[in-house]
Amino acid sequence: MLFDTHVHLNAEQFEEDLEEVISRAQEAGVSSMVCVGFDRPTIKRAIELAESYDFIYACVGWHPVDAIDMTDEDLLWIEELASHPKVVAIGEMGLDYHWDKSPKDIQKEVFRKQIQLAKKVKLPIVIHNREATADIVEILQEEGAAEVGGIMHCFSGSPEVAVECLKMNFYISLGGPVTFKNAKKPKEVAEVVPLEKLLIETDCPYLAPHPYRGKRNEPGYVKLVAEQIAEIKGLSFDEVANVTTANAKKIFDIN
Ligand SMILES: [Zn+2]
Repeated sequence: MLFDTHVHLNAEQFEEDLEEVISRAQEAGVSSMVCVGFDRPTIKRAIELAESYDFIYACVGWHPVDAIDMTDEDLLWIEELASHPKVVAIGEMGLDYHWDKSPKDIQKEVFRKQIQLAKKVKLPIVIHNREATADIVEILQEEGAAEVGGIMHCFSGSPEVAVECLKMNFYISLGGPVTFKNAKKPKEVAEVVPLEKLLIETDCPYLAPHPYRGKRNEPGYVKLVAEQIAEIKGLSFDEVANVTTANAKKIFDIN
């Protein structure tokens, strides 16, 4: 059984054929998934999906690209949702220096507030990082994020940074890029990080694995990520599937 730890089935790309996407995921062996909301409409929809399907859980937080739009009411709303029985983590949060909609200082402030919130509600943190590794690691350390731990979602950093994150009680989650022929770093990370600290995800509808690169991604394709990790580590597919699923249940506290 596979656990896709990061999906956006709440995205408009799945409005028309959600049921078919979900049945294909089940046929591929996906037993659980976490749907991530990152602004008002996507948080609302993630909760709806988690309430409609046993095997879908929700993660709620505010995306760094939109940090400038987050109000105090939004933060309070996320805090209220944290006590929902299907909400298993806070995020995705972090820093994104690729886009400049939200200035860096505002991104950092919104990031720190959400780490503090996660510690208050005792839920793990899901990190989005784009071109901001050093600042993310520094803020996680300063805010004592190790207390709740979390997940480096769709990790694209070096093996050295991955090891730093493990020390802070974080899991490393790999997605479609680990299957790309030219993706050296994710393959090195898959090799170096112990299976007990790895998670798998699709981040669908984005970042579809090979051979679907560039197309719409969906949770069933997480199987391709697990197959790639098994090949890199020289392990069986079943072992990768079982251990990453157990890891996900542990970090999200799901029985
Ligand atoms: Zn995401």
